[in-house]
Amino acid sequence: MGVYCERIVDLEATAADAPRLATRIIDWLVAEHILTRELSRDRMYSDYAAEGYVPGPNWQAITGADWGNGPVAIALGRNIFVEGQGSDTPAHATCPACRTDTVVIDYPGGSWEPDREIWAPFAAALSTWRTTGAATATCPTCTAATSVTDWRWSSDFTLSCLAFEFWNWPPLTDAFHQELAARLGHPLRRQVVKL
Ligand SMILES: [Zn+2]
Repeated sequence: MGVYCERIVDLEATAADAPRLATRIIDWLVAEHILTRELSRDRMYSDYAAEGYVPGPNWQAITGADWGNGPVAIALGRNIFVEGQGSDTPAHATCPACRTDTVVIDYPGGSWEPDREIWAPFAAALSTWRTTGAATATCPTCTAATSVTDWRWSSDFTLSCLAFEFWNWPPLTDAFHQELAARLGHPLRRQVVKL
């Protein structure tokens, strides 16, 4: 089988709050013996962290199966998380001002590749956001310039300052997702990544 990662993205953590929130969650998971404080890069391929936390003896408590696991990586800083494999753009971007969808990947038109000309100004704005924390993208339809954090993207594309990547863990239970959301105090989005 290939490499599988379940990524849990915090949709509201700020760059300033994320390190403290991550520490709180790691402390909880270590106390429950789900993780240890040992770090490893074995069997993980994160774009966002060089190492992850090694599972502890009680790791199965938050999964529905027992077929093995790898490290848990923490993604801090302003990042863009894309579900699935390969793509680095959303299928569409929705303008907050006029609600028009700018189509980036025209799946209904039979395309599986992003239109790089359409995507280029969004990519530039997102790059600025990652560096500075603030950037606007201009709507091709109504010409309104809106913060990239207010644009709506297709559901597989998420901007966030905090994510947890469970490398090669079995699917995590709904109860775990609910408790994690409660402890973070934020809505979460679950993404599956296959390499
Ligand atoms: Zn617009």
